[in-house]
Amino acid sequence: MKYDIIIGLEIHAELKTKSKMFCSCDNDAEGKRPNTVVCPICLGHPGTLPAANKQAIEWTILTGLALNCKVSKLSKFDRKHYFYPDLPKGYQISQYDLPLVYDGYLEINGDKIDITRIHLEEDTGKLTHPNNKKYTLADYNRAGTPLMELVTEPIIKTAEQAKEFCQKYRQILRYLEISDADMEKGQMRCEANISAQEKGKWKYEDGEIKPIGNYKLNPKVEVKNINSFKAVEKAINYEIKRQIAALEDGEKLVQETRGWNENIGKTVSQRVKETSADYRYFPEPDLPPLNIGAKWIKKIKAQLTELPEDKKKRFMDQYKFDGETAEILTGEKDLANYAEQVISELRAWINATGDNWERQKNKLAKISSNWLINELFKHLREDKLSIGDLKITAENFAELITLVYQEKINSSAGTKILEKMYKNGGDPTDIMSEMGLEQIDNKAELEKTIKKILTKNKKQVAEYKSGKENILQFFVGQTMAATKGKANPKTVIKILKKMLS
Ligand SMILES: [Zn+2]
Repeated sequence: MKYDIIIGLEIHAELKTKSKMFCSCDNDAEGKRPNTVVCPICLGHPGTLPAANKQAIEWTILTGLALNCKVSKLSKFDRKHYFYPDLPKGYQISQYDLPLVYDGYLEINGDKIDITRIHLEEDTGKLTHPNNKKYTLADYNRAGTPLMELVTEPIIKTAEQAKEFCQKYRQILRYLEISDADMEKGQMRCEANISAQEKGKWKYEDGEIKPIGNYKLNPKVEVKNINSFKAVEKAINYEIKRQIAALEDGEKLVQETRGWNENIGKTVSQRVKETSADYRYFPEPDLPPLNIGAKWIKKIKAQLTELPEDKKKRFMDQYKFDGETAEILTGEKDLANYAEQVISELRAWINATGDNWERQKNKLAKISSNWLINELFKHLREDKLSIGDLKITAENFAELITLVYQEKINSSAGTKILEKMYKNGGDPTDIMSEMGLEQIDNKAELEKTIKKILTKNKKQVAEYKSGKENILQFFVGQTMAATKGKANPKTVIKILKKMLS
């Protein structure tokens, strides 16, 4: 390819503080009637005074610490002016030259993606444009919600990498429990700056893309309205293709803002980009600057819990999970905690039996991860439920694993028991007895059943003896059917092989 693709991201995330950013209004407006969660401050009435939300400031610093950022010793809020009906004050309180945190990075598959800054601002209201009406509806419930904006350096190379960055960032916000960051609900919003430059004719220096020689840089395009992770990838890929096609055709690209239209799968021009001067930034006179001392940072740092990458590595080290398994188990914090509770219950059980945990833990961890990922997590995902809705305690789930581990039940019985526990909770051993699912492992009993099957299927026996060894599966199936799925398949195979030879 003749071009290098240069992508930078701006990601907004709503913080789930109790109150709004500069007033004491309830910050949870979900399901509430329009314009009922508002007050003179967030409506921007003259004469009102904002007061900054300390929790939102601390959470932004916490996010910065999680993303290897530096914390500003001196930070402040600024007014960003623009006129739009979703902005009741006529300006937005944001941060211009002294963001709370700066100079961090997030690693994506071994590539360090540099983070320029993370600053804090307030969200706008929401406008609705009813079809075929001459008016617009304005709801200011969301106006004043704390909004954290992360800006990356323009060093992302592909749409896929941009998507992965957004996903990893959301995972961290959820681990920190500061934002639900649901893109469909607009709690997290991504914007991408994209440009295509000819290879070898530009360089990245001091955080800027600079031309080499007399090369003229192609303008960058900002893409907005991206409402899902899938759309991040699709919108960027579309834009890359569009820009390259335009350059190849000798068309002139302009610096502009384009919106992603999911229905037609295209970006559509919205407006020519304002430069920062158009916003007439100046320091917010109603809020004092913030002095952030070492003591305060230390206090915030203490709230930093184990992050997804660290948890994943620990799961791999401690329980010998492979990378993919560890990635799935640690995908969400509460799933990871549940998995770890299950393993801790198993450890207590092994110790109680007098066995050695270190010797058994890898096998038990493997069975557990298999049942957690392929059964439990799958059910939860299909039913759109979270661990909080689950009726199975970690203790009972661990007990189910011990039944499988001890071969008291086979996997088909395990699935039946799990279904029942998933619906109504309960003790797996009790369910096993009630449903009569205990595995049949009695040799004499199984031999009797198998003997009958072999006598009934002389033709297949002959085929097996003539060398068609995969006929064995047929006999296993017959035996499982005859025992209503309760036979221990391992024992069945052993007996079959012996009797057939
Ligand atoms: Zn308010």
